[in-house]
Amino acid sequence: MNMEYEIVIGLETHAELSTETKLFCGCSTKFGAEPNTQVCPICLGMPGVLPVMNKKAFEYALKAALALNCEIKQFTNFDRKGYYYPDLPKNYQISQNYLNLGTNGYIDLRINPPQADKKRVSIHNVHLEEEAGKLIHPETTGADFSLVDFNRAGVPLLEIVSNPDMRSLDEVESYMETLRNVLLYIEVSDCKMQEGSLRFEASVSLRKKGEERLGHRVEIKNLNSMKAVLKVLDFEIKRQTELLNSGSVVERETRLWDDVLERSERMRSKEEAHDYRYFPEPDLVPVLIDAAWIAEIKRTIPELPVARYERFVEEYCLSNYDARVLTDEKAVADYFEQCVKIYNSPKTISNWITNDVLRERKEKGFDIYSFVVTPARLVELVKMVDEGKVNLLTAREIFAEMIETGQTANRIVEEKGLIQISDERVIEEVVKRVVESNPNTVADYRRGKKNAFGFLIGQIMRETKGKANPRVVSEILRTFLDRVVDNEVLPR
Ligand SMILES: [Zn+2]
Repeated sequence: MNMEYEIVIGLETHAELSTETKLFCGCSTKFGAEPNTQVCPICLGMPGVLPVMNKKAFEYALKAALALNCEIKQFTNFDRKGYYYPDLPKNYQISQNYLNLGTNGYIDLRINPPQADKKRVSIHNVHLEEEAGKLIHPETTGADFSLVDFNRAGVPLLEIVSNPDMRSLDEVESYMETLRNVLLYIEVSDCKMQEGSLRFEASVSLRKKGEERLGHRVEIKNLNSMKAVLKVLDFEIKRQTELLNSGSVVERETRLWDDVLERSERMRSKEEAHDYRYFPEPDLVPVLIDAAWIAEIKRTIPELPVARYERFVEEYCLSNYDARVLTDEKAVADYFEQCVKIYNSPKTISNWITNDVLRERKEKGFDIYSFVVTPARLVELVKMVDEGKVNLLTAREIFAEMIETGQTANRIVEEKGLIQISDERVIEEVVKRVVESNPNTVADYRRGKKNAFGFLIGQIMRETKGKANPRVVSEILRTFLDRVVDNEVLPR
């Protein structure tokens, strides 16, 4: 990348709100139904029908605007955005243009790897609008038509427009992740990118370092994964750098990303840009938002991921990495804090969650809130290790068994006789036996070979079926070997 240029990136985010019903009618928003089974005259745009605002959708939008630190308009209304496309039955989309619900917000990011400074990206506006339907292009050879599914038409959609504040791909990645986490924390969208519930559009321009004026902006649409956003921006930055280096001008245009060819292509130039002929929607009454309503919604906003992350580092003395993994998702952070409330050993509990619980979840995909190993059950197991009843190796097996059978750790330990051997006399016996039957390894140890010690430990653990307390084994073996070496009574 050419260092002469500064990268200027802004993102538009569309998030489908997870209400049961659509924005202006009672049709279901459930994903994956048979095409055109969740439609009615309103969302099909039949003549003479009237939209009725879904209060829940409006509240979700308000909640998101507040979580993104926006100023809230006390008086807001809706506009018609006119354009023709087959997935838009009314030939206009009900959106907000003149009086957006929220303006002048911001979101604070952690940059990966975490830096001392936080990055603040300002939010230009947050507004509510309706989804369009979805075109389906049949894969039949020779098919010269497309089909349209209106199930999605009228689903409430939140648009979040950032200012062009991002200066690197790291910042873009962090913005997307943090925004997604915030929306999930406040439970207004499921943010499933694979189902299209969360989508991004990027605008990017380059300017000479130190220059105030922004370069010509290129907008890129059709981005359905965070990976695609980063890929397209990387491609676009290179393309624009080459153009500028060769003395050409970057044209202001909209480009489409082709995920298969991994390149962007021109969709339309500035001259061909749509004139949406916005005008106030006459069929909807304005919404008045009073202070009491705002206060009520504010009370439902939990501590947000970045604040929670900072508190975890501070309060539980966790590493930046651990705090991040634990707070990315509200359910995981809640699980952690429930465990710590029962047993105040944050570092150990954090290790169990970030390694074992999350690995299991990744494999099996369960919901943390209904995980069979409840916080109380995990704590019971963690305590067993801390109290020396079982070693870590056995504890991992018990954990797997707990998931498999739904039993508690205590029950499994009792049934299987897994109590750790910490009795020094028992361990000494085994150590003696192992040392005597491995004279060559002991000789290696004398010559200073480091892995000889590890090998002997392994043998001892095998003899005790993994139940010996590793700390005690290590101490006894060390003493034993040193004594043997001192007295020159090595078995021959
Ligand atoms: Zn409908």
